[in-house]
Amino acid sequence: MRIPLIAANWKLHKDVGEALHFVEELAPRVADVEGTDVVIAPPFTALEPLKGAVAGTPLKLAGQNVSPELQGAFTGEISVQMLLDVGCSYVIVGHSERRTLFGETSELVAQKAAASQQGGLRPIVCVGESLEERAGGRTFAVVGEQVERSLARIEPAQADQLVLAYEPVWAIGTGHNATPEQAQEVHGFIREQLRKSIGEVAGRIRIIYGGSVKPENIFVLMEQPDIDGALVGGASLDPASFFAIIRFDRPPGEATA
Ligand code: PEP
Repeated sequence: MRIPLIAANWKLHKDVGEALHFVEELAPRVADVEGTDVVIAPPFTALEPLKGAVAGTPLKLAGQNVSPELQGAFTGEISVQMLLDVGCSYVIVGHSERRTLFGETSELVAQKAAASQQGGLRPIVCVGESLEERAGGRTFAVVGEQVERSLARIEPAQADQLVLAYEPVWAIGTGHNATPEQAQEVHGFIREQLRKSIGEVAGRIRIIYGGSVKPENIFVLMEQPDIDGALVGGASLDPASFFAIIRFDRPPGEATA
């Protein structure tokens, strides 16, 4: 059985005060949420203050990025151990913004994912095709190659700690989410590819969807058999909207009640 995972990716938003205020608002609402893992990935600067704020709540913390290096002369980098130290249990690696704006390759993503896994952080490995790639009929080729290369250094014995995030680039921050059928088609493809490469553990790996997830569309996405949760950008910045997404089991209309 795969426990659903709903993760907030705040990107370059919220200072410490705003992050603390968000958790003060959200924590009482999620106190009785059971059977769903809820993760917040704030900017690095808010992690240490949030460590105390989420203690005793079901909320977990994630880094938005991590260095593949353990320590040393790597100005501006943050290591796996540093993220663990400030309370993280997850880390996002290979987000499309890191890949396209900062030139991260799948090889680098593989090093980050492996360093995270070896250090005891659960990597949320992002993959997804661009609009041009989808229009050119290359979705499966692109996503398949990203999955293969990004997971090349993962230890299969601990692969159930891994989370895959399918985030079509054309759906991120655009308001145009993939339809549930489009997303399921790729999630099913990813799971089958994982099954072929690492075997039955593939059935225990969570594959979450990201790209303009909102309270209005989470219900139908979560009805799909291979969609195990969501990575949420814009709609995770407001506690009420994020909470409505966490309650994905409510039909549209009831989600924000
Ligand atoms: C994201 O940043 O991973 C994301 C999916 O953003 P949004 O929900 O805003 O599309």
